[in-house]
Parts: sequence; structure tokens; C-alpha cells
Amino acid sequence: MRALTVRPGVPDSAEIRDVPEPPESDGPLLVQTLAVGLCGTDAEIVRADYGEAPLGEHHLVLGHENLGRVLAAPSGSGLSEGDLVVGIVRRPDPQPCPACAAGEWDFCRNGRYTEHGIKQLHGFARERWRAQPDAVVRIEPALGDHGVLLEPTTILAKAWEQVERATQRGAGLTPHVAVVTGAGPIGLLAALLGIQRGLEVHVLDLVEDGPKPELVEALGATYHSVPLPETGLSPDVVIECTGVASVVIDAMSCTGRDGVTCLTGVSPTGRSLRLDVGSLNRTAVLENDAIVGSVNANRRHYEAGAQALARADAGWLGRLVTRRLPLEKYADSLDRKPTDVKVVLTVSDEAAGS
Ligand SMILES: [Zn+2]
Ligand SMILES: [Zn+2]
Repeated sequence: MRALTVRPGVPDSAEIRDVPEPPESDGPLLVQTLAVGLCGTDAEIVRADYGEAPLGEHHLVLGHENLGRVLAAPSGSGLSEGDLVVGIVRRPDPQPCPACAAGEWDFCRNGRYTEHGIKQLHGFARERWRAQPDAVVRIEPALGDHGVLLEPTTILAKAWEQVERATQRGAGLTPHVAVVTGAGPIGLLAALLGIQRGLEVHVLDLVEDGPKPELVEALGATYHSVPLPETGLSPDVVIECTGVASVVIDAMSCTGRDGVTCLTGVSPTGRSLRLDVGSLNRTAVLENDAIVGSVNANRRHYEAGAQALARADAGWLGRLVTRRLPLEKYADSLDRKPTDVKVVLTVSDEAAGS
């Protein structure tokens, strides 16, 4: 069967290769891949900045954002043939550490977790895959093709959970105003989840035209193409989705009293920026600010993400996917265009519907 693979450590080694059918030892659940989304992490793996093949293998099948249809499920698994499913990206470490033992592999303590398409487990950019039934989440059939947006949504379901936990530090810290930095897929999904929580949401990005400002306005949020300090906003919550150093500093220093900043963007290292650490610290202390980093997601976030997508406007979700390409056109999908929001690769000819 066809798969999009890379040789981790070798830059630009992405290619479509013929790979064996998934071994039965991967699990009794057999899934046909309908679509995968590629994101910045995949681009990093293709550049060989990141990524690890399964032990003893040279190639890694790419793809962690996924949507599939069950071809065969064991009885009693709660899954049946035809169900739409999304594979959970991170799997617990074998030890397991206390976090993984509690099902919170997103907080893995020893770093020995594995991740489909990223770290030691093949990804979903192949025609079929197998898994244990508890390694997937079933989604509403009505979500159809939009189910490929679930994995990125889980990142924000976790980020918002972390924000909510941080607002439980004091009485009456109910947030009203949220700022999201970055209007890519992650930022737009962060804004969606903020709107669903009843917050006044502002989204900041550099671009002044194209689909991003329209997508923000269509949510009922406000779009700004200026840096956070120039907006005059004093948000209760900032969800930082760019990883751009100057934007990160603004996100940490421009919250209002008792503010919460959740950092989700991974920055490149090795660039320095002049920063008044004393001022940053003084503000954080005197205002009870909380700054929390958040990565990955566990099953609870997949379930919350699926509910959030089911509540979202289907037309809006459809507009997030600006291009759908066949698997063979993976290189086009990694080549970002200014009008791109999310680019999705179709793996199976059969659409999921909706
Ligand atoms: Zn991703
Ligand atoms: Zn662990």
C-alpha cells in the first residue's frame, strides 16, 4: 500500500513508497485512512529537524492529523465497520510513569512516550493502519470530512483546559476578554473554542487580507493586524499560537490583572531579543499573572475537541480547509501559499461526507 514516508535525519527525504500492510500486532482494529493534515511539525520532520523512525527501521510514515473509517473492529470494542475515527497521536510510555498510568500521557514524566508520525510510531499518511480500540476516538458521522480538524483542535481543548485551571486560582477570576495571537489553523481553532466559552475574542495576525480576517469576523471575534500593545486591550487570557519571540513576549507581558497566558507555539532557538526581565517579572508578580506552556493532548481533549467541532458551524469549518490535494501532491501541501489556512491530503478516494 502507498504511504508518505521520510528518513528521519535526512533532509527532504519525503517520498511516496510502497509499504507493507499494517501488522496484526498493531491491534485488532483496522482503519482505512481518508485524509491527513500536514502542519508545521511535519514540515520540521521533512527538514530533518525532528522525527524518529520506529526502532530498527529507517523510514517513518508521516502524518499525525488524521481521519479514517473503520474497516474491521473486534466485537465488544464499541466500534463498528463504517465508523469515522481519529487516531490518538501520543501513546503512553511503556513503564508507565504516573501521568501515563493515569491516562495523561500529554504530561508524560519520563519522555519515553511515542507519537504516530513523529516519534517511533508510524503515522497515518498510509492507506490502512491498525490500532488497539482504545487508541482511537469515534466522531459523529455528521462531522464528515471536517473530522481531520480534530487533532489540531485537541491542542486547543487542552490549552483552554489549562487556562480554566489557572482561573481557578482565585475567587471571581472568570475571564471575559481573550486574545489569540496567530490566525493559522491553531489560532482560529483557539478563537472558536474561546467564542464557544462565551468570551469576547480578539485575534492578532500580520496579514491584512485573505481568508484569515474573514474567518475571524465570521466567528464573531475581532481581527487586528497590529501588535498586542497597540490594540489597547488588557485581556484576561492570551492563547499564544505563533511561537514568534516578540509576540510571545507581548503575550506574557500584556495581560490584565490576574491574567493567564497559555503558550502553544514552538519557537526556533538561537535568536536573541533584548528584554527587560525585571519589568516582566514585576508585572507578573504584582498582577498574579500565570504563564503556562501546553503541548499535546489526551483522550479527554479528543472528546472535548470532537464536541467543540460538532457544535461549530459546518460552513466555517469547511472554509478552514483551503486546499485538498491527493497524497501524491504532499510537496505542494508543504509549500504554504498566502491564501492557505489548512491544507489536507486525501488518502482514500472515498470522502467521509458532510
Ligand atoms: Zn500537527
Ligand atoms: Zn509517561
